[in-house]
Amino acid sequence: MPNSPAKRGHRSMAVVLVALALFLAVLILRRMVMSEEPMSWNPDSMRAKMVETQLIYRGIKDERVLSAMRTIPRHRFVPQRIEHRAYEDNALPIGEEQTISQPYIVAYMTEALKLSGGEKVLEVGTGSGYEAAVLAEMGCEVYTIEIIPELTQTARRQLDEAGYGQVHTRTGDGYFGWPEEAPFDAIIITAAPQKVPVALLDQLKPGGRMIVPVGPEYGVQNLLRLTKTQEGRVATDTLIPVVFVPMTGEIEGKK
Ligand code: SAH
Repeated sequence: MPNSPAKRGHRSMAVVLVALALFLAVLILRRMVMSEEPMSWNPDSMRAKMVETQLIYRGIKDERVLSAMRTIPRHRFVPQRIEHRAYEDNALPIGEEQTISQPYIVAYMTEALKLSGGEKVLEVGTGSGYEAAVLAEMGCEVYTIEIIPELTQTARRQLDEAGYGQVHTRTGDGYFGWPEEAPFDAIIITAAPQKVPVALLDQLKPGGRMIVPVGPEYGVQNLLRLTKTQEGRVATDTLIPVVFVPMTGEIEGKK
């Protein structure tokens, strides 16, 4: 017997409802899995947890470094759409194919510079500006150079907004350092050259430290600490394996 129009109506209504329910379920699942914005997030508690679990637990001891990283709103130094991922245990994209370094690596490199506050420090590779903010928060006088103009601009804005207007920024090739402001107590290079940029050692004070990841492009590099002795000799410590974006510009032509 053929279905009555009423029955047919009920059945198509049921089909529509089931389809709607499925559609909603897919939307909710998608939001849970691929969420750009979590339902709620608390940057202060995430930052405190980052310092405990990623830094202290792995052996970072320098109270100045820990306190700076507890204070600085790292989420203000990443693109807004990935703000909620700022406290993850990894590097993150900041545009122009560059990255903000993993929190542990920032802490490790900064600790390795053995700073007590008040030093004049040169950074090569401003990127997001976060490392520069850490150094400034520790009381250092910071000069930072970035080769990509768009990144210098964004970092400048982020540093100003986060209250680190005193950091000196410049667009240029860090290979040449910042001769007008040399010599520095410490130099931190946050992009990886294939060999040590020895020219920069001239801009380091006797007793000064330079931290640099040296190694192949898009491979594993070694983090080196070069210490200039009072007599001007250089002692090298090999610290840990790391992965950084390559240092570009003048150094690429140097074999
Ligand atoms: N310190 C950064 C991490 C930067 S990633 C932070 O805290 O976010 C490395 C940066 O070095 C990139 O932005 C890249 O553009 C820059 N860079 C690469 N070669 C450079 C060079 N020769 N001089 C200055 N900056 C350079």
